[in-house]
Amino acid sequence: MYTFLLIFSACLGSFSSACIYRYTHNEDFITDRSRCPHCHHTLAWWHLLPIFSYIILQGKCYYCHKKISYLYPLNECFHILIFYLTFYFTQDFFSTILWGSYFSMCLNLSIVDLKTQQVPTSILGILSIILLQLKPLTTSNILVTTVVFLMLVIMYFSMKHHFGFGDVLYITLHALLLHPIALCKAIFSSCILALLFLLCKKRNRFTPIPFIPFLTIGFIIQVFLAFFLQ
Ligand SMILES: [Zn+2]
Repeated sequence: MYTFLLIFSACLGSFSSACIYRYTHNEDFITDRSRCPHCHHTLAWWHLLPIFSYIILQGKCYYCHKKISYLYPLNECFHILIFYLTFYFTQDFFSTILWGSYFSMCLNLSIVDLKTQQVPTSILGILSIILLQLKPLTTSNILVTTVVFLMLVIMYFSMKHHFGFGDVLYITLHALLLHPIALCKAIFSSCILALLFLLCKKRNRFTPIPFIPFLTIGFIIQVFLAFFLQ
């Protein structure tokens, strides 16, 4: 079980990194093969093994010897850690795969937002499918989510400089998953983190910053708190 989770999570981390790279560089997901970002040489299968390839190649491209970003193995290690932590709390294989995939999508969305300040609807779509598997819809759930969405839309139009519509959709999706109080706590902690970030970077409140990464931190903390208190 642990071996399967190790391989699955590392491969998902590697696949996520490849998808993020292709999305941010306008490359095709299916037809394009993985290439070195420096010399554009097509990579062999053994250059793409999660973590191992980075160690074997000593963090450098096999062809041009330029450095490979440490973010690739870091993303793979993060995936392994989050899957193992989830399994520790849930003790259920199927739940671990679902929750792990959810965390992976949140992380992907955060990295894309950090790099491009865009929120791809394709990732939001996959995230919504996973969320519906994690928590099936109920009448009260739909009601709360609708209220949250309407409130956010009003705020979006009245405070247009403060957040994007991608943030509205991302928070609304989490209204499906989290208890309303946990959702408020997550948004509040995200705002505090974003404010601290603005202060550290000495930017004013009108400077656009990616908000999804801060929301992700807030949501993940609330999900793990819920695991812990179960
Ligand atoms: Zn190269």
